Amino acid sequence: MVTFPGDPPFEMQPYFQRSKGDPFDLALLSMGTHLGTHVDPPAHYLDGGATVDEIPLEALVGPGVVLDMRGKSQVDRQALEEAPIEDHTRVLLKTDNGPLLLDPSFHEDYAHLTEDGARYLVERKVCLVGIDYLSIERYKNPGAPVHHILLESGVLVVEGAHLLEVPPGPYEIFCLPLRIKGADGAPARLILRR
Ligand SMILES: [Zn+2]
Repeated sequence: MVTFPGDPPFEMQPYFQRSKGDPFDLALLSMGTHLGTHVDPPAHYLDGGATVDEIPLEALVGPGVVLDMRGKSQVDRQALEEAPIEDHTRVLLKTDNGPLLLDPSFHEDYAHLTEDGARYLVERKVCLVGIDYLSIERYKNPGAPVHHILLESGVLVVEGAHLLEVPPGPYEIFCLPLRIKGADGAPARLILRR
């Protein structure tokens, strides 16, 4: 799978193996906390911010909307103002990144959320925003302002959301990161139900 440049790769090594005489199979996992579909809690960027185990389930589960942002290289305030957010507080951005997420090589020119787009989502009292690539922010954006705007306002960030086959529209969203104590992020299973 695609890995953010410099992040530790995913590895799964056999640890106990029935084929080697062990009574069961059990593997050793090694991966970064921000691999695949994952959640960024405030602690990813902020001193004293909530870690992934401290995120309230109320933010992670509930009604939300998948917005069609295909055809845009960036998701800015104007794009969001024109989108049917209505009173949704959980927003997933479906962009042209969908196929890129399935490509093992990293693409630097992925569609991303802009700073004014992030501020707009904060104004709209959004509690969770997701995007379909490994970062919500432009690649190598100095100072990571989009992460700071969102996380400082308590907006959770979901990255690597696999939305390729998901039609835009309202859903019930379940975003469940592994509850790893003190973690700055964790892989999550993201489930959408109509
Ligand atoms: Zn992340």
